Amino acid sequence: MKFFTFFWLWNKKIGGKELETKMVFGKKGLYYMVVFMVISLFYILQYGLGRSDQQLENAVKTMELYEVRLKMNMNDSLTTGQEAVMERERLLMAIETRIVGFLYRIPDYSYVSSLETYLKYRPNLLAQFPAAVPLGKGNYSISSNYGIRTHPISQNEKTHFGIDLSAPAGTTVHATASGTIKEVVYSKKGYGTHIVIWHRFGFETLYGHLEKVLVHKGESIAQHQIIGTVGSTGSSTGPHLHYEILKNKEKIDPRPSFDLKKKIYDELFLSNSGTEGVE
Ligand SMILES: [Zn+2]
Repeated sequence: MKFFTFFWLWNKKIGGKELETKMVFGKKGLYYMVVFMVISLFYILQYGLGRSDQQLENAVKTMELYEVRLKMNMNDSLTTGQEAVMERERLLMAIETRIVGFLYRIPDYSYVSSLETYLKYRPNLLAQFPAAVPLGKGNYSISSNYGIRTHPISQNEKTHFGIDLSAPAGTTVHATASGTIKEVVYSKKGYGTHIVIWHRFGFETLYGHLEKVLVHKGESIAQHQIIGTVGSTGSSTGPHLHYEILKNKEKIDPRPSFDLKKKIYDELFLSNSGTEGVE
């Protein structure tokens, strides 16, 4: 009985404390607290964003430095032999440990040039992110580039977020990098029948207005694998492929990716130079 009395008293005490707390944090207190929280949040966000910009800048600087050293090493190797080969291996390994973070962080293709020498030694990396044309050599012509244009149907001026490659209906469409089929959509509007592929390093590619689809959702595909055929489904005036590249969810200009692989391989094998296309 005594215990229950004590418990009741203790409970009452807590209640009293709560009442006190409410009085301390009155309307004014609550207002100051909200202002304080908003200011804190603002600083956290700005500090966080500032830091990621700084990280990108540092990553780019590091990669550029390695590029310079690799180039120097290539020139050196003709005279100093074994030692230079070991130094080059060390440089390549050092780049390899940083490359994943670097490729995820960059917003588009503008910093890829700092990897050119590295890619000559490790060209297989070019199969893992969009670095080719989705149609075969000589099978297409570019009918609309990425950027502001007048829409052929609505006549409105708006940004075109991809590249249009006009080609005869039935022309085979190739994946521009290895990856996984994210989605296959059959629509009568917009992109029409289209495929979206997930790639490494935050890349996605989209292939629109297709006639046929030869892959299914969740399927793993290799670079250059045939995924469908050119058509004119959806909002389209004639057979063409609408091709988009997304990097970290943002649509970017696919043009710099077209000759990336060819450029590296041409320099590697000193093969004949032609127009850009699937190897
Ligand atoms: Zn288009």
